[in-house]
Amino acid sequence: MMPRSVGVSSYALVGVVITIVCIGCAAITGRGAQRTEASVNSEEQQIRLALEQWKQAPEQDTRGMAPRTSFNFARAAVQVTGSAAVVEPVYALTGWGLGVFSFSLRKKDDQWVFKSWRHVGEGVIETALPDLDPGYLPLLNRWMEANLGWVQKTLRENPPNGGDQILRRHALCMLDEPLHIRSAPALEPVKQFIRSNVDLAISQIRTERVAAGATIWKFYNHGWVVRTANHTWAHDIYEGPEGLITGDQIDAILDKVEVLFLSHWHGDHSSPRVMKRARDKGIPVLVTPWPAEGGYADYIRSEMTDANGSLDWLTVVQPGSSGEIRGLQYHAFPGHQDQLLNNAYAVTVDGMTILQMGDQWNLDDFVWIDSVKTRQRTDILLPNVWTAQMKRVLAGVAPRVVVPGHENEIGHSFEHREPYDQAYEVLAPAECQWHVMAWGERLHVEPAPQQ
Ligand SMILES: [Zn+2]
Ligand SMILES: [Zn+2]
Repeated sequence: MMPRSVGVSSYALVGVVITIVCIGCAAITGRGAQRTEASVNSEEQQIRLALEQWKQAPEQDTRGMAPRTSFNFARAAVQVTGSAAVVEPVYALTGWGLGVFSFSLRKKDDQWVFKSWRHVGEGVIETALPDLDPGYLPLLNRWMEANLGWVQKTLRENPPNGGDQILRRHALCMLDEPLHIRSAPALEPVKQFIRSNVDLAISQIRTERVAAGATIWKFYNHGWVVRTANHTWAHDIYEGPEGLITGDQIDAILDKVEVLFLSHWHGDHSSPRVMKRARDKGIPVLVTPWPAEGGYADYIRSEMTDANGSLDWLTVVQPGSSGEIRGLQYHAFPGHQDQLLNNAYAVTVDGMTILQMGDQWNLDDFVWIDSVKTRQRTDILLPNVWTAQMKRVLAGVAPRVVVPGHENEIGHSFEHREPYDQAYEVLAPAECQWHVMAWGERLHVEPAPQQ
């Protein structure tokens, strides 16, 4: 996905509603000098004019979050304190949701000028719609709670490799529905669903012992924890938009992980929040080389330098290279998402090889994908569900078991939230064992039979 989570803080649904109710007040306060109502009004007009001018200026750095023209200042309150002004909440309706922003201005030579803006959270789009029936959101929440409650119960009673698999498919397809509400990332029942599933996974990771083979846990969104008899590692752990997975939960996951493999420099795979926590715990973080162009890599570079301005704590892995870290043998297949480097890491340890494909999407890469099976036996393949030509990928890798990831990325606009139903269709022709998993679910894979 395109990077966009910059300086995000959680915005509770109730908070958003209250804030919007307050917009009508548009309180303007002044400290110090007495102002007449007319002067205050003209001050506010000048501020709004300055913001409209900012909006019309040529596109500059909006950190990939929203084009300038999408910002709506009309419903924001203006607050003036001396020569400083804050305008909030400012909404920007984007392809993936409703961004909530705060703008700061300063008065210079009697003119109000734009100073800075920051993203303070994601709003529930529906609350920004004029004349919305007040019963709509409570109804939406009740429906979601009923849906997600049944889905969770059904999935727990029918895990990936047990129970009624038809019922399980129904549950996953039903889960597609609330996740295709555009504002899903900001809705409380969705957060609770994910967090409760992640809590269950964490409790399993804390206690599970693997005698042979491998146990995997799926996290949001193409994130995985893998455990073999002697090792535990993770791929592409990401907290999700709006911190769907909490900081405490990320810590609890990382506490049991020896190495973190990150496939490529996109925010839903290489998350600054997760990487910093891994760094602070002394966990090696393996990354691809920095992309030549700026964008997200520049942002990460500025975010990730430690107190000494160093990035040495990151282990940069050249595409096509192999190595060993903390007893794990790995090979980085030289993949791409379009033109962006995407290391597809195959990790081999305790008689098992697990290959996570990141956001693989590049037809030229079949030059290596077609022959993965001649290089290694892949016990578990973890591809992104929307990878180019899944059937050909499966033919080239010939895995024993395949489990796709990256379904229902609710940080994407909903046109690119590939549903679980699609995963079933894409994998239907697979000749190997395959499973579709929800966030937080666990699967154990036995070792390959002795040849
Ligand atoms: Zn992705
Ligand atoms: Zn990506």
